[in-house]
Amino acid sequence: MERRNFLRSLALLAACPLCVKTAFAAEGVHWSYEGEEGPEHWGSLGEENGACSAGSQQSPIDITGAIKADIPDLATDWKSGGTILNNGHTIQVKAAPGGTLKRGDKTYDLVQYHFHAPSEHLVEGKSFPMEVHFVHKHAETGALGVLGVFLAPGAANATFASLAAKFPQKAGEEAALDSIDAKGLLPSSLKYWAYEGSLTTPPCSEIVDWMVAMEPIEVDPADIKKFTALYSMNARPALSANRRYVLSSS
Ligand SMILES: [Zn+2]
Repeated sequence: MERRNFLRSLALLAACPLCVKTAFAAEGVHWSYEGEEGPEHWGSLGEENGACSAGSQQSPIDITGAIKADIPDLATDWKSGGTILNNGHTIQVKAAPGGTLKRGDKTYDLVQYHFHAPSEHLVEGKSFPMEVHFVHKHAETGALGVLGVFLAPGAANATFASLAAKFPQKAGEEAALDSIDAKGLLPSSLKYWAYEGSLTTPPCSEIVDWMVAMEPIEVDPADIKKFTALYSMNARPALSANRRYVLSSS
């Protein structure tokens, strides 16, 4: 990794001597989903984002050719409530403290969940209108365990409808949620695909145990529109699996 960064630094020096200072000084640089600051440029928007272009275990991916395996069941114990925020890239709910996800003998704490449109993961090349990411952190190792759930148009989902009614309209706006229960966004089955990957936004760190639920949830198309009115495209395109295995729990 260090060698990669070093090589990248050399490449930067050669490509653009005057850019070097800015590139190295940049911290939490601005990024977006299109144009000059879009996904194909994330890796060069700042040294800390190097993994976005140099990494070999990036996310999302197209889930295909999964291998059936004896992987641990998932169990969530999330608390209701939290704070809903428009962070300029997505709508994110800061979770109420104390919520957990158990995967076998590993326990992760729920930190936040947020939405993408369209879905970031693909299944056999096919995308869904939206995907929610429940971001958990392992208290001791710091590893992230992110559970992705696809959202498909259909019957209304009460939890998603309540959230959609409260989406803060402007970046930076935040509102308290009284009794939103995130469990309402889970499908009836928690069978899932698992693989090792990365954050799907800069700095694209390769620290994520990905779990993607096989069963989508249905939500009211009108509620999807409330999200896409704010963020019509906030999905990183799928990257190469690079010989990684995707395991399937069924
Ligand atoms: Zn995400």
